[in-house]
Amino acid sequence: MKLVVPPGTQNLCEQCVALCCRYYAFEIDKPTTHRDFEDLRWYLYHDDTIIFIEEGRWFVQVNRPCKALLPDNRCGVYESRPTICRGYTTKGCDWHGDDYDYDELFTEPEQIQRYGKQFLAERRRRKQKRAASKARTKVKVKTRPKTRSKVAAKSAGKLKAKPAAKTAAKTSKRKAG
Ligand code: SF4
Ligand code: SF4
Repeated sequence: MKLVVPPGTQNLCEQCVALCCRYYAFEIDKPTTHRDFEDLRWYLYHDDTIIFIEEGRWFVQVNRPCKALLPDNRCGVYESRPTICRGYTTKGCDWHGDDYDYDELFTEPEQIQRYGKQFLAERRRRKQKRAASKARTKVKVKTRPKTRSKVAAKSAGKLKAKPAAKTAAKTSKRKAG
């Protein structure tokens, strides 16, 4: 949400309630197993915790204010604030930037459970499909030697040769007719 900055504002943070100091978020590995989804469900049973996916990356966010935040929304440890706070600017920040564009947002344990079930079922389905197509390829490969042995047998004279005399007779008959 881009906000209109009132004229005469020197510091963009002046008008803000320190939104960026009221939570922390960290990236986690993409869940791939039932156990992974169970752990995420557990996180969501905790107060003030959400999980989101942004551009394919997974994050856990804890909506709790920083202990150093002063009642007037200023930083109580400004001179020695952590590196991440030093690197954060109003450019695209929580107040002056655009709205977050989550791929997915989970706020309740049931949501992640549902998502996990669908994800694992889809993965199982893809696995079965791959296994079936692998099996089909194997069958094709198995039939090849038969063809080769036919050719080998033919060249070794084991297969019945075409009755050359009969063919010749037919040809001359047709010619005569
Ligand atoms: S950086 Fe943005 S979100 Fe943080 S205090 Fe300043 S205006 Fe608010
Ligand atoms: S250390 Fe200061 S700037 Fe950083 S989150 Fe806490 S209050 Fe905000």
